[in-house]
Amino acid sequence: MTAESPFKLTYATMFNPPEELHTRFEEALAKVKAGLGKEYGMIIDGKERFADEKFVDRNPANTDEFLGIFQKGTVQDAHDAVAAAKKAFTKWSRTPWQERVALIRKAADLIDQRIFEIGAAVALEVGKNRMEALGDVAETADLFRYACDSMEKNNGFIVEMGRDPLTGFQSTNFSILRPYGVWLVISPFNFPAALTGGPSAAALVTGNTLIMKPATDTPWTARLLAECLRDAGIPDGVFNYVTGPGSTLGQALIDHPDIAGVTFTGSYDVGMKIYRDFAQSRWVRPTILELGGKNPAIVSRHANLEDAAVGIVRSAFGLQGQKCSACSRVFIEEPVYDELVERLVALTNKLTIGDPTARNVYMGPVINASSYRDYQNFAEELHQSGRVLTGGKILTEGEYAKGYFVTPTLVADLPADHRLWQVEMFVPITTIAKVSNLEEAMTRANEVMYGLTAGFYGSPEEVEWFFDRIEAGVTYANRPQGATTGAWPGFQPFGGWKASGASGKNAGGVYYLPLYMHEQIRTLVKRL
Ligand code: NDP
Repeated sequence: MTAESPFKLTYATMFNPPEELHTRFEEALAKVKAGLGKEYGMIIDGKERFADEKFVDRNPANTDEFLGIFQKGTVQDAHDAVAAAKKAFTKWSRTPWQERVALIRKAADLIDQRIFEIGAAVALEVGKNRMEALGDVAETADLFRYACDSMEKNNGFIVEMGRDPLTGFQSTNFSILRPYGVWLVISPFNFPAALTGGPSAAALVTGNTLIMKPATDTPWTARLLAECLRDAGIPDGVFNYVTGPGSTLGQALIDHPDIAGVTFTGSYDVGMKIYRDFAQSRWVRPTILELGGKNPAIVSRHANLEDAAVGIVRSAFGLQGQKCSACSRVFIEEPVYDELVERLVALTNKLTIGDPTARNVYMGPVINASSYRDYQNFAEELHQSGRVLTGGKILTEGEYAKGYFVTPTLVADLPADHRLWQVEMFVPITTIAKVSNLEEAMTRANEVMYGLTAGFYGSPEEVEWFFDRIEAGVTYANRPQGATTGAWPGFQPFGGWKASGASGKNAGGVYYLPLYMHEQIRTLVKRL
C-alpha cells in the first residue's frame, strides 16, 4: 500500500479490486495510447544509445498497432555495456549498503507511482489482462523492497565470527558477503517487469553493477523500469539496458569474460545452452537459472471441488497459459473425476477472451506468431490423440482478426505415454487424467523433468502427504486463488527444482540475496 494507491495488490487478492483501480488504469491507458510509436534508445553508461538497425514492438492483440521502436543492439553495444558496468563497479560496490538500499527503495517508490502507466504498457505489450498487468508491476516494486528489507535484516551480510585464541594476540574475524562484479539479467516475455526487475534489484542492492537484456517481444516494460532506476538516481554505468536478439546480443554478453554472474529466466533449451556456454571460462561463475515448468494439480476424492475447479482454471488459463507456473496437467481421483471435469469445462467456457485491456476480459492473445503456430500444432496433435473437451481452435473473426487469439483448451483421454504429457507447451492447453488413487497421481505428477510448482486439493492429512512427496519448489494446497500460480515475494518465494531451476533457492525469499555475493573472511590480528 502506498500514498499513491490505497490498495494492496497481489495475485491472490486481485479478484475483487476497488473501483478506483479500474478508473486509474483506464486513465493511464488512454495517456499511454496517445503516445504510442515512440523510439526508445538503449541506456549504456547513463546515455541513450541508438543502433543502426531497429525493431518494432507490436501489440499481440492487434498487430497493426505499433507500440514503440527499439534498438537492435549489436555485439559492440554488448561489449560497451559490459565496459561501462565494469568501470562503475569499484565505486558502487564500495558505496555503503545503506545508501544502495535507499536508492533501490526510491526506485520502488517510482515504480509504485507509475504503476498504472507501466501496467498499461505491460497489458499492451504482453497481452496480459489489466489485473495481471498491474500485478506484474506491483510485484516488481515488492521484489525491490524485499531485497532491501533482506539486506537490512541481515545487517548488510556482515557477521562477526568467533575470536580464535592466540596467546599474546587478539584476533577479530568477520564474514562479509561481497558482490561479484558485472551481473547480467536476461528475462523472458511473460513477466517483463517482475522477472527483469526482481533479479536486477537483487544484483544492485548487493553491490553488483547490472546489464538488463529483456526479451525481444517485451523491450518496452523493461525500458520503463530502467527509467525508474535512472530517475531514482542510480549512477551512470551501474545499470545498463540493452535490447536486441538473444542469439547475437544476448550471446555476446554470455560469452564475455567480464560478466561475473548471470540470472537467466526463460526456456529450458536456452537456459541449458547458457549454462554450458557460460562455463567456457577460466573459473566457475554463478549462474542462476529459472526455467520452464509442467505443473500438476492433484485432486483427491476428499477435495472441495468448487475450490479445485476455480483454482485449476485460473492457473491453467491466466495469461493464456503462458506462465512458467501454469497448471498444465491435472490428475483427478476416479470418484470425483466426472463431476470435476464437468465443472472445469463449465468454468473454462465462461472465460472472456478479447482485448486484454478491457475490464471484462480474462484472456488476451498469445504473445507472437510462433506461439500462435505452436498452439495450432499442439491442438491438431491433441485432436488426434486425445479427447478435446473444450477449445482447441483459434479465433479469427471480428475483434480477433488482427491478434493471436486462441481458445482455452482442456483435453482428456490422452495416453499416459504421449509426449505432450512431458512438453511445456506454454499456451492455454491443459491435459486431464483420471487416476485410481493418490499414489498413481503422485507418480505421474513427478515423472516429468520439471519441478516448478504444484497444487493439491484434499483433506488435511492428505495435504501433509502431498507436501512431503511432491517434487516442486512452490507448492499449494486447497487454494482457490490458483492451483499452481500466484506466488508473491515474502509470501511464496518462487523457484524450481530439477529442470526448472538451478540454484535451489527461491526469488523473493530468505535465501536469495546471498546468491549474488561471495563470502570474504576478514581476520585482523593485533599484538597485545
Ligand atoms: P526464451 O528462452 O525464448 O527467452 C528468454 C530470454 O533469453 C530472452 O530475453 C531471449 O532473447 C534470451 N535469449 C535467447 N537466446 C539467447 C542466447 N543464445 N543467449 C542469451 N540470451 C538468449 O523464453 P521466453 O521469453 O519464450 O519465455 C518463456 C519461457 O520462460 C518458458 O519456458 C517459461 O517456463 C520460462 N519462465 C520461467 C520462469 C521461472 O521462474 N522458472 C518464469 C517465467 C518464464 P530474445 O527474446 O531476443 O530471443
